[in-house]
Amino acid sequence: MSLLANKNILITGGSRGIGKSIVEVLVKNGANVGFTFTSSDLAANNICKELNSKDAKCIAYKSDASKFDQCEKLVNRFLDDFETIDVLINNAGITKDNLLMRMSEEDFDKVIEVNLKSVFNMTKACQRIFLKNRRGSIINMSSVVGVKGNAGQSNYAASKSGIIGFSKSIAQELGSRNIRCNVIAPGFIKTEMTDNLSESIIEGWTENIPLKRPGESSDVANLCLFLASDLSSYITGQVINVDGGLLT
Ligand code: NAD
Repeated sequence: MSLLANKNILITGGSRGIGKSIVEVLVKNGANVGFTFTSSDLAANNICKELNSKDAKCIAYKSDASKFDQCEKLVNRFLDDFETIDVLINNAGITKDNLLMRMSEEDFDKVIEVNLKSVFNMTKACQRIFLKNRRGSIINMSSVVGVKGNAGQSNYAASKSGIIGFSKSIAQELGSRNIRCNVIAPGFIKTEMTDNLSESIIEGWTENIPLKRPGESSDVANLCLFLASDLSSYITGQVINVDGGLLT
């Protein structure tokens, strides 16, 4: 039997990059997956067309994870389509990098809303289902930058550190109900988000990575597969790096 057979999984930001890779890996391992997107209907629909099969269902939802009321509505739509939720993956994220002296209040607030507030919105909306089922796995996407900080990314680092504190608290709050909450901290992963970094920044990062290369989206997706599955049923409150050894 497939590793994720009969699991219904909701993931934010699944139409490209790491999120898309996670959707692909989960569906290929037998899960029914609903994912959100914010802009390209065509890209989202193509992913569903490609992945839908008689063994696993894949549905895309246009929804902004930073908006509390949209998250509530999204979860209700997901329940209409899939009946219940077993795993929530909070993957949506943005960057608006700048040195503090040039960072606008708007760019600080936007990054916190999309990266951190979204995790609160979605976890709060799914909590009642996990409590009713007396099981659930929540996987939150942080970053090595949330652990170590990074010049020019104070807004992003604050949002990603916030995710770690939030997740450790939820793991303690909901553990007695068999609801797990873990954090993935990717290092430097090749996606559209990192495409616009300059050659010199990429070289600088790569030089400091013991494995001497950036990671692939699938490296992160494979950890998600483990954390979504029952193979990880005794793991909660952890921050797991997927960084080629960068933080060692
Ligand atoms: P990406 O820009 O390719 O994808 C981000 C996804 O988030 C997109 O699908 C986008 O539509 C979605 N999104 C953005 N705002 C949203 C909103 N308001 N509501 C719902 N969805 C929204 O980036 P990625 O590299 O695939 O990053 C995925 C996650 O991994 C992010 O949380 C990012 O911070 C994190 N991360 C990435 C790296 C890296 O090196 N790429 C490293 C560490 C952490």
